[in-house]
Amino acid sequence: MSKFPFAGEALKSLFKAPLTEKYPLTPKEAPEKYRGKIKFDANACIGCGLCIRVCSPNAITKLVDAVEEGQNITMKFDLGSCTFCGYCADFCPKNAIELTQEYSMVVTDKNDMIVSGSFIKKLPPKKPVPQKKTTENK
Ligand code: SF4
Ligand code: SF4
Repeated sequence: MSKFPFAGEALKSLFKAPLTEKYPLTPKEAPEKYRGKIKFDANACIGCGLCIRVCSPNAITKLVDAVEEGQNITMKFDLGSCTFCGYCADFCPKNAIELTQEYSMVVTDKNDMIVSGSFIKKLPPKKPVPQKKTTENK
């Protein structure tokens, strides 16, 4: 038996093309229907909060600030907690959430894992308070 039983195989492999992917030098597309980085369309959102209710890891938060025009609503999606289940997108009545094919989410700052967007929700005009009828003493 040869002292180097794998020498022949090693020599052959030297002249074969590598089986490994050359990522990231050669970009690789995600498979169809891959659920990757969330894209949020603040212009479509109505702030109903349905996405928050269906998100099991509590990765979505809604911040509401009172402003002159109504409410300034900010939706935040923490991709560090997200499991990419896609429920938020499935349940959103306005199609404001999309799970894209983007899978590369390497960051050095955890804040870079937050996808967010804000919009102003106008509140309906306040109804005038009905005046109490005063009864005159007769
Ligand atoms: S994909 Fe799933 S886990 Fe991620 S934010 Fe949406 S509902 Fe939550
Ligand atoms: S993203 Fe969709 S489900 Fe979530 S609050 Fe906005 S409209 Fe509602």
